[in-house]
Amino acid sequence: MAALTRLMKPTSTIITRRSLSTTTAAVSDIQSSLSDGKGGSSRTNFQWVFLGVPGVGKGTYASRLSTLLGVPHIATGDLVRHELASKGPLSNQLAEIVNQGKLVSDEIIFNLLSKRLEAGEAKGESGFILDGFPRTIRQAEILNEVTEIDLVVNLKLREDVLVEKCLGRRICSECGKGFNVASINAKAENGRPGMSMAPLLPPSHCSSKLVTRADDTEEVVKERLRIYQEKSQPVEGFYRDLGKLMEFDLPGGIPESWPKLLEALNLDEYEVKRSAVA
Ligand SMILES: [Zn+2]
Repeated sequence: MAALTRLMKPTSTIITRRSLSTTTAAVSDIQSSLSDGKGGSSRTNFQWVFLGVPGVGKGTYASRLSTLLGVPHIATGDLVRHELASKGPLSNQLAEIVNQGKLVSDEIIFNLLSKRLEAGEAKGESGFILDGFPRTIRQAEILNEVTEIDLVVNLKLREDVLVEKCLGRRICSECGKGFNVASINAKAENGRPGMSMAPLLPPSHCSSKLVTRADDTEEVVKERLRIYQEKSQPVEGFYRDLGKLMEFDLPGGIPESWPKLLEALNLDEYEVKRSAVA
């Protein structure tokens, strides 16, 4: 993954992107492995990206899959928090950006990502699941220049359910744990199946200390969705054109969605380990 570091040296001509013909072959491998139920056991590359609107639960699914597959789950938000907490070389610069409420630049994000992947590689890690990254078409293009992404999973959830779920979020003001008080029973309509999601209720010692995040109002949640969709559609299109995008409509909460997701990813051979993760 030294390739990502080379990104910071624009004069370098070495890139790891495969030739067009190899890419096409890799794409057809992915497509066949996703459709014929055979490719999974021979697949060794797990350089995956998880996309999905805030609140869809992509962190949860990415985290479970990373445990299952033995590859790191990398969320750029965590990279920024880790750099700040560990007082890394970029922490002063980052603190300033974060305090001013500005967006962290692509250069810094790629720098952190590169550092994280190299540290992992040194420990013998291979593959990754990127969570919520790339966020923009520019990031997707740069990422594509420096490494091969094998599969992009786009997690989707009915918008009415998603909004309800976001509005049900609560945090314990004492221990900081997250819960969800929404009990979702969306009716089937317009050809969409109905959907039920059980609340994730707090233990009794947390229940009197629950708070709602100030930005979890219906208006803010809907605006966040709109902004996300505006930015992510070109990213989705980019990977769709490469034949690497897998759309996945979440059929409900984790108990319904997790087995279906494994099925769609053709990870049946990981069945034995599944109980350890579920
Ligand atoms: Zn608590």
